[in-house]
Amino acid sequence: MPWAAPLQWLNMIFIDFPALSALATASALETKKCSCCTVPLDAWQRLPTSLELDRFEEIGTLREDPYEEPTFAEYHPHGTRYDSIDAPIAPRYYPANLSQVARCLNCGRHYLRYNEAGGYFTELRIRALRPALLADAA
Ligand SMILES: [Zn+2]
Repeated sequence: MPWAAPLQWLNMIFIDFPALSALATASALETKKCSCCTVPLDAWQRLPTSLELDRFEEIGTLREDPYEEPTFAEYHPHGTRYDSIDAPIAPRYYPANLSQVARCLNCGRHYLRYNEAGGYFTELRIRALRPALLADAA
């Protein structure tokens, strides 16, 4: 069966690397305490139950071309793993390449999130957008 882009990917604004960097920097400068910070989200993880989905708005996607089949290759030049807190955020690599950028409506911090789809489940996963981890890797 040919790969088909999920419908929700087709009408989203693409966020390029400079725009992503700007959002990450803005998030890092935010000092306000917020419910979105009660659980550390430095590494990819299942969306904590303490976070309410409706307190986030999706502002765009890191998928440049929704019709192109996404890669599942990860980017770890320094020996990190998928769930390392210091794993690079490289928009052309999994799972950032599947992610949407979501903004907390309470404080304005930005997060990446995507649906991890296994054989019999899907799970919403989330990670804080931190400027120091961004990697514009081709
Ligand atoms: Zn927040």
